[in-house]
Amino acid sequence: MSGPKGGKRLAPGDTIGILGGGQLGRMLALAAAPLGLKAHIYCPDRASPAFDVSAARTVAAYDDEAALAEFADAVDAITYEFENVPAPTAAFLARHRPVRPGPDVLDIAQDRLAEKAYLAEAGLPVADHVAIDGLGDLETAVASLGAPAILKTRRLGYDGKGQAVIRSAGDCAGAWEAVGGAPSILEGFVVFDCEISVIAARGIDGATATYDPARNTHRDGILDTSVVPARAGTEVERRARALATTLLERLDYVGVLGIEFFVAGDRLIANEIAPRVHNSGHWTIEACQVSQFEQHMRAVAGWPLGSAERHHDAVMTNLIGADAESWQDILARPAASLHLYGKTEIRAGRKMGHTTALAPKTGG
Ligand code: AMP
Repeated sequence: MSGPKGGKRLAPGDTIGILGGGQLGRMLALAAAPLGLKAHIYCPDRASPAFDVSAARTVAAYDDEAALAEFADAVDAITYEFENVPAPTAAFLARHRPVRPGPDVLDIAQDRLAEKAYLAEAGLPVADHVAIDGLGDLETAVASLGAPAILKTRRLGYDGKGQAVIRSAGDCAGAWEAVGGAPSILEGFVVFDCEISVIAARGIDGATATYDPARNTHRDGILDTSVVPARAGTEVERRARALATTLLERLDYVGVLGIEFFVAGDRLIANEIAPRVHNSGHWTIEACQVSQFEQHMRAVAGWPLGSAERHHDAVMTNLIGADAESWQDILARPAASLHLYGKTEIRAGRKMGHTTALAPKTGG
């Protein structure tokens, strides 16, 4: 079947291939089932949480072309649950099957410098920043941007990893060592009132949907809670959603995208995008008509998007490391839902699950 813009539309019973087998892949696979779609997970890790709930699996490296070709043959469309899919893997698969979102967005999301440039060009304000390729660059940049500032590796940083805060010029050498001397960017420190994120979706027909922004708090660099409504101000929230929509359109995007903003007064500063479902959107499972996971599966299938309307207030709390030991207490709370990701080993800093508490809906 062809979509209105020539994109392939899947039929019930078809299979969506998902690169990556973590909790996001697991929740995508769970959302595919009620739509009559099957999930086939491709992941090198034998102990992937998504395998438990998927119709099919491939355990192979991301550069194993024979395994990739077999996987492509077995599925009708392909998506991914993490943005560090190697570019050659995405390009190889895209020659065989529709890859949604398209691989181009990976080039942007994998490199903080390219990401900032793209966001700025699209009209989204970003933090002041300078490309850093050596200690000399860093010292010069700190002298011009001022301290405090944050040094971040351009690639492969997440959950606060690959980052070092510079409080004064004397911190440069230590910070450069902390990021392993990798190509980086130095960002001016944004003094923000709060952090919010918008989960936004676009279908193959160009229709878009945005969820109410969530207000996010972090603990040790890892998302701790997402609260909706964010109460960041009606106008700020409206603009955040509009900026997310602008970005989806400019990217000719298909699927769900998460975008994080700092809010400073009435200013919004885009921090980063994730071309996938996002941890700060887990609350949509219980609090919205159609969750971010179903929305993504609909878009990847080439089906119409559903309503992103929120029918409850929600507080999502990640269960990190030993937090997961409180699962029995969570089960005893009537308004809370429990999600455990099936990871056998509890490790500090590891996302083991999350819980979402609902309350009657109030305004933004
Ligand atoms: P990131 O990996 O870019 O999402 O950064 C992780 C967290 O560090 C963010 O959620 C913020 O809390 C903080 N952070 C990152 N960049 C900045 C910045 N330029 N100014 C202030 N805080 C920041």
